[in-house]
Amino acid sequence: MLIAKTKKELREILSKQEKKKIGFVPTMGALHSGHLSLIEKANDENDFTIVSVFVNPKQFNNQEDLEKYPEDLNGDIEKIETIADCLFCPSTEDIYPSDYQEKYFELEQFEEVMEGKHRGGHFQGVCNIVYLLFELIHPTHAYFGIKDYQQLAIIQHISKKHFSKIKIVACEIVREKNGLAKSSRNQNLSKDQFQKASFIYQSLLKAKKLAGNNLSTNDISSIIESDFKQNHFELEYFEISDHITLLPLSKPTVKSRAFIAAYLGKVRLIDNMELIE
Ligand code: AMP
Repeated sequence: MLIAKTKKELREILSKQEKKKIGFVPTMGALHSGHLSLIEKANDENDFTIVSVFVNPKQFNNQEDLEKYPEDLNGDIEKIETIADCLFCPSTEDIYPSDYQEKYFELEQFEEVMEGKHRGGHFQGVCNIVYLLFELIHPTHAYFGIKDYQQLAIIQHISKKHFSKIKIVACEIVREKNGLAKSSRNQNLSKDQFQKASFIYQSLLKAKKLAGNNLSTNDISSIIESDFKQNHFELEYFEISDHITLLPLSKPTVKSRAFIAAYLGKVRLIDNMELIE
């Protein structure tokens, strides 16, 4: 596996690249089997697979969250060296030189709901880094997890306008044995919190069952919110939204999704699930 630590080094690698299909998997590192499923898929579907590991400060709206974000570059290299052709692991200074001009992206309603509403500026930060990486790499395929469903919808939205040639590939959520969606932030949970966190998944399954019983969004939300209260578990939001527009629905429809953001101590976790297949 080739390793590029600067944009210049990556450009050099890419200039020698004659392979047709380039698969790209952007990550923030501390890789787990959720990330690896994206990288394996990219490896299967392309001639050359590039993985980026970059903890993007612009997408953190909380300084403490950024400081506590886990990093393990050597472990990451070991995990991907047989399934990726190139690792791009730049420094913040290389990505955002002092004269970097932050771009503004028109994200319409996508930025006004859920993660956009609760994490001011988060998606502008995500779009800045993805735009920069897509411009640098020009992959044929780019892989994103359904775990971050709203992020995926936003990347699809900006790609339609700026990168119509890049195929955005959506990848299934990989879970722990207890149902908790794999996340780098899970490393910051205690053993006890880790067990407790499966409650998020159980709640999504319950919402799915209630949607199947024809309940309205209000009714489902009241049940889920009261479950969280009873379990002394801090729910930031529970929403039922259209799978394309992400706007809230008064009643679950086919393919609509339930979304949860919740805190266990200081660790913020998100998850989502399709309600009616
Ligand atoms: P991150 O390093 O958290 O920015 O994630 C990098 C990519 O991996 C994003 O497209 C995520 O949606 C995806 N991802 C993270 N966790 C999972 C998971 N449990 N299952 C599938 N994809 C995931």
